[in-house]
Parts: sequence; structure tokens; C-alpha cells
Amino acid sequence: MGSGRFFGFVVGGTHPAALAADWLVSAWDQNSGLRRVTPAHSAVEDVTSAWLLDLLGLPGESAVGFVTGGTMANFTGLAAGRDAVLRKAGWDVAQRGLTGGPRVRVIVGAERHDTVDLALRYLGLGSPEQVPVDDQGRLRADALQSALDEGGDEPTIVVLQAGNVHSGAFDPFTEAITAAHAHGAWVHVDGAFGLWAAASPSYRHLVLGCEAADSWATDAHKTLNVPYDTGLAIVRDAAALRASMGMHGAYLIHDELGEPFDKVPELSRRGRAFPVWAVLRSLGRSGVAELVDRLCHHASTFAASLDEIEGVTVLNDVVFTQVCATFGTDQRTEEVVRRMLEDGTAWMTGSTWRDQSILRISVSNWSTNENDVERSLDAVRKAVVGL
Ligand SMILES: *Cc1c(COP(=O)(O)O)cnc(C)c1O
Repeated sequence: MGSGRFFGFVVGGTHPAALAADWLVSAWDQNSGLRRVTPAHSAVEDVTSAWLLDLLGLPGESAVGFVTGGTMANFTGLAAGRDAVLRKAGWDVAQRGLTGGPRVRVIVGAERHDTVDLALRYLGLGSPEQVPVDDQGRLRADALQSALDEGGDEPTIVVLQAGNVHSGAFDPFTEAITAAHAHGAWVHVDGAFGLWAAASPSYRHLVLGCEAADSWATDAHKTLNVPYDTGLAIVRDAAALRASMGMHGAYLIHDELGEPFDKVPELSRRGRAFPVWAVLRSLGRSGVAELVDRLCHHASTFAASLDEIEGVTVLNDVVFTQVCATFGTDQRTEEVVRRMLEDGTAWMTGSTWRDQSILRISVSNWSTNENDVERSLDAVRKAVVGL
């Protein structure tokens, strides 16, 4: 999985600076939830949070929670959203629970990530309403508008996506957020790997408008290449996040500035900000932009070269780091997936997208170079022989 020729799922490798910092985090063994007890970590978390908001183009006043990954980042943002829309409807969910309260409508695109549904399940919100997507898996803003218009003014959450796991596509943020906010909805963006487009001047246009949302989820262990397990839950209204995640204990030493644990589901936690700080400090703004550009460049190379192979079709517009290819029929595609795994030069996984079997390539590792891409393409060329 750490190899530059691992293109399965959407994972990412480990940048050396982040790895070194992560070793120190384990050696120091600090429970970093309380500001007064681990002031160094809290200071680094504050600095890193400000850098992240700047890099991702998100509102400077937002609170950043260092969680375990994208799933918990989705959970955290949606928890803040659930509580806020219910509070607006006069229902204090922290006090009264969900039973007997107003129904919360949750609207998602048909191709949102499955962890959104999982997070909604944790939150007692059940299964979301799906609106149709276009041929790249982007939620259709017109369909969202109709869905919103059909409802009344009940408490509503809209979940958008920055980076579809198959196509890499981004939802139409400006239109969707404008429509959702006109209905008083909370907008959450799942940008586990795609939110990082904001860090590159060449790809920033993909996330344009998403800064108007209310909460965002992203990973540090994917595009940023920090070791597991680090995700980021970002909420514009810091008080709303604290209302959902904050807690008080008579035996804890509370600081009036608020505690790192007030922004995440966990109480005890490792010093997750150090590896994120280290990779940002090491790469700098231009280094993160180059990292994003490089991943996207390799994805484009894959797409262009795959298209040249007889019988191969790249199904998606390769706008970011994801490539989906078919090899004529489902059976042929599945055979290529099998041969690739058996060959072992590169790891690429199969999936199903737009009702077809596909070979999916996700370029997420900082260390992938031109040679890795060429060797992997050679393996694909070999796998199609005699299909
Ligand atoms: C990976 C991913 C998640 C889940 O993140 P984890 O870090 O695996 O918990 C959520 N949404 C999207 C779009 C993802 O790619």
C-alpha cells in the first residue's frame, strides 16, 4: 500500500516529514485533548488549523477538529448540522434527544460516498433522500432545487461532494449552496480527498463556491499523505460544533479558550496535529500545490495512455486524481482486474460505475513518479493481450 504503484481505493502514502512526526507523537504519548495539559500540541493544532483554513480557502473563523478520518469528519460536521437545524426549529436535541422531535430532512446526491450514509445512521437520521446526478456523478442542481421546493421549511441538511470516488468530479457548489441556503438548510461538503484541489492554483476552480457551505469533511491521510489515522472536521460556526461535541468533567482542567476535545467525538486522543503540521511545514504552500498537481498529472497520463490501447475506454472526464476504464465488456474488464492483481506490478481495483464493471485508478501517493506510471501502464498493456 505504501508503494508508488498502489492505485487502489483512495488511500495515499506517507510523506517522510509526517512519518517522523508521527513517530514522535507515539514516543511522546501525550493525551492531547486538554489545552492546559498539553499546551505544545494545542499551540501546534491552532497554528495548523489556521494554515489549513487558508490553504483550503475556507472561512478563517471556522473550527477544525482533528478526527480519525473522513468518516468521523462527516459524522462530526453532520452532527453539528443536525443539532443546528433542530435548534433553529426550537428543538434542543442535546437535551431532549431525537424522539418526538421534528423530522430532519437529509438530501444527498445519488453518488455520495457510502460513509455519509453511515454517519447519518450513527446520528439517528436514517437513510437520506437522493437526488439524481449527471453522467459524471455530480449532483444536479436543478434536481436539488426541485427537491427543496417540494418540501416545506422543515429542518434540512444538504450534503455535497468534492471528489467523487469514481470520476473525481465535484458538485456544482455555488448553485447548490445558494438553493440550499435559500431554504435555510445546513450544507455539509464531503471532500475527503477532493477538498485539496483548493490548495493548487491550477485546480482551485473545481471547489469554487464550496467555501460558502457550513461544514466540510476532509482527510489528511489521503491527498496530504499523512499516516493513518487523521481526518479534519471543519465547521464554520465554532459555537455550533462545540454545542455538539463539547463536554465538561469536574476532574478536567478546562481552559476558557475551549479544548481540542470540544471539536471531536473522542475525549482521549493522540497528538494528530503534529504530523499535519510537519508535512505542511515541510512542503509549504507551493509544495502542497505541486503535490496536488503531480497526482492529477499522473492521472491524466494514465487516461491519455489507456485511451490509446485498443478496446479501452476511459469513462470519466479526468478532472482530478481518479480514472475509470472499461475494456469492452464487463467480463473483459473483470479479467483485466484479475490479471493486474495477479501480475502484481501495480495494484488497481475493480468497481462498478454507471452500470459497468471498471478498472479504477486512484493516484494518491506523493511518491508515485513517471516511471511508476509507465511500468503500471505496461502491465495494463500486457494484461489486455489475448483477452
Ligand atoms: C475515503 C472517503 C471517505 C471516508 O474516509 P475515511 O478516512 O476512510 O474514513 C469519505 N468520503 C470520501 C469521498 C472518501 O473518498
